[in-house]
Amino acid sequence: MKKKKINIFGGGCAGFSFIRRSQEVKDATFKFYLGTENGEKDHYWGFWSNKYSYDFDEICLKWNKWKIINYRNEKTFYSNQHPYCLINKKKWINFCKGKTHNSNVKIIKKKVEDINSKFFVDKKLIEGDYFFDCRNITFNKNILLQHFIGLTIETNENKFDPSTVILMDFRCNQSRGLHFIYVIPFSKKKALVESTLFSKNVEDRKFYLSAINSYLKENFNINFFKVLKEEKGIIPMQYMNFSLENSVSIGTRGGATKPSSGYTFIYIQKQISNIIYQLNNNLKINNFIHTKFSLFMDKIFIKALEKNPKIFPDLFYKMNSRLSGDEMALFMNGNQSLKTWLKIIYSLPKLLFLHAIWQCIKEIEN
Ligand SMILES: Cc1cc2nc3c(=O)[nH]c(=O)nc-3n(C[C@H](O)[C@H](O)[C@H](O)COP(=O)(O)OP(=O)(O)OC[C@H]3O[C@@H](n4cnc5c(N)ncnc54)[C@H](O)[C@@H]3O)c2cc1C
Repeated sequence: MKKKKINIFGGGCAGFSFIRRSQEVKDATFKFYLGTENGEKDHYWGFWSNKYSYDFDEICLKWNKWKIINYRNEKTFYSNQHPYCLINKKKWINFCKGKTHNSNVKIIKKKVEDINSKFFVDKKLIEGDYFFDCRNITFNKNILLQHFIGLTIETNENKFDPSTVILMDFRCNQSRGLHFIYVIPFSKKKALVESTLFSKNVEDRKFYLSAINSYLKENFNINFFKVLKEEKGIIPMQYMNFSLENSVSIGTRGGATKPSSGYTFIYIQKQISNIIYQLNNNLKINNFIHTKFSLFMDKIFIKALEKNPKIFPDLFYKMNSRLSGDEMALFMNGNQSLKTWLKIIYSLPKLLFLHAIWQCIKEIEN
């Protein structure tokens, strides 16, 4: 039987996530074009454990408790079945590389160019049966972004509670957009502390660092700390799915990012599982993983957020406070039951959201 010739472009999260499972694709050979590995920054990916994280469970850090906090309230969520997980990028890529030592995979450290929907390396046409594009994209200007800087820090004294992740703490400067602090406690003395904004404008580095400093001082009585690592990122809060003719995009360029939260990692795993199933069953390949309903709801949510970010620290708390830890984890991973949707919709301020729905409908009509 003729083997399928599969090309993957882009050595980031999606490319490596796919190639690690190359042996599951029947009768296939792979060429994996990494791009240049220079300048790839290390960082962490967070997600809630589910059936798509079964094979890398052992390389994740896990927490069964996480919190949402604002100036008035605080709620702790628990889940034994779906813990919050964190995975380090370098560790992940090494783990994936370890799974690719087989004669069906050829790794090529070169950049790929596209011209008129055809792909080239060193000006030579790349041939094959399938082309999976996981290269970076540039975002449109004037869209809502999730942007952040995180510091991995160490303190002299015991300051953190290693049992509980602080997923969102809104007790910080809300003048530039919706702003929260995210704290991943690695131990009593070591944590990743991130200042995250949902807004259209990326701030100077100073803004995020000052927010982290004030937060640690005011809420943990931390005046001095050592910075071990710094990470930063910008994630689009808009659905984007760009595939060239004859290719299928995966990852951020393939619509994997959940617009309302920026979570992408676990959706990439789901996208790849679907694609492997489609390849093995000779089905038409598609990269869709978010339902039309959830994308529409995200659009409404983002419209409301753009219009009135100031109410969102309370709203985020309200929306989630009716959910159990399991419900929240499943919801955030895209496994959304009608019951969870109803609980969330019930907690929303009706006028603001009706206005946002109206604006979305007007946009669709135009
Ligand atoms: C700092 C940071 C933290 C994040 N944290 C989380 C999180 O906690 N949870 C979560 O779910 N998501 C998170 N995300 C969002 C998302 O998971 C990541 O952006 C993820 O890396 C997207 O994967 P990707 O493969 O689409 O893109 P990337 O991982 O960016 O990979 C793109 C790759 O394409 C390569 N490339 C570019 N041009 C070419 C070319 N011409 N030819 C060949 N290769 C090329 C690049 O070298 C790169 O390796 C985070 C993002 C960042 C930046």
